[in-house]
Amino acid sequence: MNLIFIGKQGVGKGTYSQRVSQKYFIPQISTGDLLRAEVKSGSELGKKFDMQMKAGNLVDDGDVSTLLEKRILQSDAQNGFILDGYPRTEVQAKILDSLMKKMKKQIDLAINFVTSDAVLLQRLTGRRQCTKCGKIYHLQNIPSKIEGICDIDNAPLFQREDDKEGAIKKRWETYEKQTKPLIGYYKKQKKLVEVDASQEVALIIPKVEAILEKLEKK
Ligand code: AMP
Repeated sequence: MNLIFIGKQGVGKGTYSQRVSQKYFIPQISTGDLLRAEVKSGSELGKKFDMQMKAGNLVDDGDVSTLLEKRILQSDAQNGFILDGYPRTEVQAKILDSLMKKMKKQIDLAINFVTSDAVLLQRLTGRRQCTKCGKIYHLQNIPSKIEGICDIDNAPLFQREDDKEGAIKKRWETYEKQTKPLIGYYKKQKKLVEVDASQEVALIIPKVEAILEKLEKK
């Protein structure tokens, strides 16, 4: 299964894709994580990404697509993957389609997760992430056993710069302008399914699993 998870920042794409990844043994590929790894490496390219990301802007389509292509070609992604945060523009969707064609594969489904801005803001400002393994927590919704410490590896949790309120508003503007058109793009291809993501995670995951079971039977 080659899947795309779409949704405004804060809708929980990262959490849903981690769960689906564990259940179906297919990797979650987050371009945000790939970009943050490049930033952490301290490379010149990483410095450029850091500036664009901190400002709440998108990274250049070409740069992010090169990172994505390298990741998608790795052996663990050959039986399927979940793209979390890619494509984010129509240009990227077209690049992905031609990449899939080259690999004699296709995107099977794009799931669009939706909820209100009020819910999104609460989710984003409370989000925390492990500095070591990347696991995502939430101060109220998914708390770690010990506050500020990852349950898995005891590493400290951190809040992303771009999860602070000012940056969130900028990212939402970018989403409306550049990412929303993707919904029409996948609708046209008859590959779009919408999931109401207003409820808690435990209730959303079964909805996603039901969609994927149907897809597997096709
Ligand atoms: P995320 O972790 O998916 O919220 O991504 C964090 C930031 O990384 C975004 O606000 C963008 O600046 C950048 N980014 C992630 N994925 C992409 C993408 N597909 N295209 C362009 N920029 C991206």
